[in-house]
Amino acid sequence: DSVKPSNFLRQIIERDLDQGTYAQRHWAGHPADAKAHQSAALDPARIRTRFPPEPNGYLHVGHAKSICLNFGLARDYGGVCHLRFDDTNPEKEETEYVDGIKDTVQWLGFSWDANGTRHLYQASDYFDFMYRAAEYLIEAGLAYVDEQSPEQMRANRGDFSRPGVDSPFRSRSIEENLRRFREMKEGKLPDGAAVLRAKIDMASPNINLRDPALYRIKHAEHHHTGNKWCIYPMYTYAHPIEDALENITHSICTLEFEDQRPFYDWLLDKLSEGGLINTPHPRQYEFARLNLTYVVTSKRKLKQLVDEGHVSGWDDPRMPTIVGLRRRGYTPESIQLFSERIGVSKANGWIDFSILEGALRDDLDGKAARAMAVLDPVKLVIENWGEVMGGDDVLDECSAPVHPHDESRGRRSFKFGREIWIERSDYEETPPKGFFRLFPGNKVRLKYGHVIECVGADRDASGAITQVRAKLVPDTKSGTPGADAIKVKGNITWVGVADGLKAEVRLYDRLFSVAQPDTGEKDFLEELNPESLKVVTAYLEPSLASSKPDEKFQFERHGYFVADRKEHLPSASRIFNRVAGLKDGWAK
Ligand code: ATP
Ligand code: MG
Ligand code: MG
Repeated sequence: DSVKPSNFLRQIIERDLDQGTYAQRHWAGHPADAKAHQSAALDPARIRTRFPPEPNGYLHVGHAKSICLNFGLARDYGGVCHLRFDDTNPEKEETEYVDGIKDTVQWLGFSWDANGTRHLYQASDYFDFMYRAAEYLIEAGLAYVDEQSPEQMRANRGDFSRPGVDSPFRSRSIEENLRRFREMKEGKLPDGAAVLRAKIDMASPNINLRDPALYRIKHAEHHHTGNKWCIYPMYTYAHPIEDALENITHSICTLEFEDQRPFYDWLLDKLSEGGLINTPHPRQYEFARLNLTYVVTSKRKLKQLVDEGHVSGWDDPRMPTIVGLRRRGYTPESIQLFSERIGVSKANGWIDFSILEGALRDDLDGKAARAMAVLDPVKLVIENWGEVMGGDDVLDECSAPVHPHDESRGRRSFKFGREIWIERSDYEETPPKGFFRLFPGNKVRLKYGHVIECVGADRDASGAITQVRAKLVPDTKSGTPGADAIKVKGNITWVGVADGLKAEVRLYDRLFSVAQPDTGEKDFLEELNPESLKVVTAYLEPSLASSKPDEKFQFERHGYFVADRKEHLPSASRIFNRVAGLKDGWAK
């Protein structure tokens, strides 16, 4: 096993394990969710992390970083990672997304089952507890119902340059607050008429501590709790409670939440003083979110691309969603490797897309079967074939290893004949300097086949090449004695016309044409790469006839390709997606 490089989160966890920070738990005995309680009965010396997506879209590569981080830390330190749906926002959430997220976490190679317990939670299961905790805060004089208009509330919050101003509702009595809050809950007030706010400090230099909102009114149906509630907890209130009820030890989030940490601690301190939650309570730690070049990682923006038809769906192979990467041909191992390589830091920055591609190549190089494919085919005719081979229809069997470093995987075979498909770019009438492939008078080897000498090419009326002509050089077949007697500089890939398979190949490129989309003046839609998809009709060697959806290959010299997991039918409609080129094509 390789030793994982340390980072600040590992150091914190190791310190907590050494010091036994969570070894002595004080049980509040709250009647929260039985499942959460069950999970708490586990060995308290273990660390407990969570991945808490909001089910309002499909997960993207940034979430993958968070999943690999949270589940990875739990795995490495013998702890547990919870999958928790942060479903506190009734309007944008859907069951379709819940199912998609579960599928994605499992596909990435992680499980929320540990020691026979299913650590799958949803924030809406804690709505009763959250409500009770809110009443407790009111009773303790720590929360009040504010009925200022949203505009007044905003104006009175102040900003960095000036302190806020107390709301006229801030000094309400506990009884009045309780009565009003219950009326909010009973549906007696319309949306926006009031909010419950924490009573902290309107002059705090941290704006998040200027009496943040805890509950809002929203007469909306929730995908899980239906119409039971018309008030919903704010994320900043709900999240610390969710963590505490699940006995999370290390609550890892992105840097944007750094300023929320004082409220996170304030709330959990107050609730543990009131005996409502277990202690010691969870701590929040922040790391830099992943920004990946040439894509956007905001669910809202990705949803817009889908809704407006700029891509074919959430799983369009150009999308940085996990379902998109999966369809593109990325493997779970390559995404895990990518996450490990980029590590965690405290400084925001951009990771180059080529790092993701590099991880894919490093994963597939040892796994993917090799095959020859001609992506931009032009016919090559070997004029003396019949003469040399004893008939124009004669086919000569050639073979190549399935994997060059693993002979045990056997060989693949294909037929060489009078007519061959080659890449259009492999012929030049007047070769530029350093061009060693086909031009009149030059000899090249057709890989795993014979050496040929180029004679010339035929053109149609428009000047486009219709076929290239060549002559076979006898006794040069690869692998036969004396085959290398003639030295050639060019070695080109090919597919036989007799046994080549026609296929649709989708050549995907970067989704955006600028490295850091959505950061400048321009609307991000104007930065979409108009050439992000090119569809070509290619010819493939016959070993691909049995390729299954989602099977990955290295097309020699072209890069890594995958049989499309949705549309590829091996015999009827062969469709391959380019995952990545062989070397870093992005730097060009
Ligand atoms: P988005 O802004 O794309 O909607 P989000 O943060 O609102 O993302 P959540 O569903 O709340 O989406 O995210 C779940 C978890 O994934 C959070 O803990 C969040 O910190 C983490 N996460 C989201 N985006 C990234 C990212 N780009 N890099 C690292 N972690 C991320
Ligand atoms: Mg969010
Ligand atoms: Mg968001």
